[in-house]
Amino acid sequence: NQPLAISPVQQYLERLHAELQTVSAGEIASYIPELTRADPDWLGIALVTVDGHVYQVGDSRQPFTVQSISKAVSYGLALEDRGLDAVLSKVGVEPTGEAFNSISLEPDTGRPLNPMINAGAIATTGLIEHEDGVDPLQHLLEAFRRYCGRELSIDEAVYRSESETGHRNRAIAHLLYGHGILDRRPEEVVDLYFRQCSMLVTARDLALMGACLANGGVNPVSGIVALKSDWVHRVLSIMSTCGMYDFSGGWIFNVGMPAKSGVGGGIMAVLPGQFGLGVFSPRLDDKGNSVRGIRVCERVSRDFGLHMFNVA
Ligand code: GLN
Repeated sequence: NQPLAISPVQQYLERLHAELQTVSAGEIASYIPELTRADPDWLGIALVTVDGHVYQVGDSRQPFTVQSISKAVSYGLALEDRGLDAVLSKVGVEPTGEAFNSISLEPDTGRPLNPMINAGAIATTGLIEHEDGVDPLQHLLEAFRRYCGRELSIDEAVYRSESETGHRNRAIAHLLYGHGILDRRPEEVVDLYFRQCSMLVTARDLALMGACLANGGVNPVSGIVALKSDWVHRVLSIMSTCGMYDFSGGWIFNVGMPAKSGVGGGIMAVLPGQFGLGVFSPRLDDKGNSVRGIRVCERVSRDFGLHMFNVA
């Protein structure tokens, strides 16, 4: 009996994992106290192709909170629920070059500049609305279920921790309400936003979510539509220009793949038409992006010449 051959992709990811395991730069996010309970050494990498092959190494099954990566899902859902014009009237599409928690609102209208900063994400969460009046949290969980092919749960401790300390996000929600950007009560919207950020995912989930976006919105493992195809290029565009906070320019320049990061330590990257890549490593740089997460994506892009704009 021949031993089963290990795929070259798996071998590559294992080597990359071993190499980057030694990198210890960065700090775990502490402004949400409960996040400090993460093990700083965790490193999980997963890659899911548009034909449904799943590769994963290291702590790829370790749950952590999705945080800002949820903003890509909620934006797609708001577009499905409300349509483009309604969403654009409340949230813009311009990068800010400012930190994720900046209060970047247009002076006259109060419209947040884009849906990937907290202000824009809170406005977006306020737009989520199922036509049959289904509870918005269930509606959001249902969207995640389509992307991940499984039911996600909320990390109650992280949710409570953020809710108890999230004064800035609360203030942003009140500002948005004052400007008429939110039409539901700010307390209600920010509570949903905190729950959305506290959903537990794994690097594998992120890779699969990315693969859905790489695959025109269809989950390549289940065949279920995670996001209607009309909206996929909109979500990917915003991820390309705004997904890595105030590192978005450097990111797209170097890595050349739309991506979204979260302060839990996750990064979801997408190579359209090819694959989704999910990385989890909780030590963050000063902009709130996973240090080793960035390194993994840079390496995958460079080692295989995958920069989206490099077609030579
Ligand atoms: N829940 C976090 C916050 O609002 C999400 C931020 C992030 O991941 N960048 O501060």
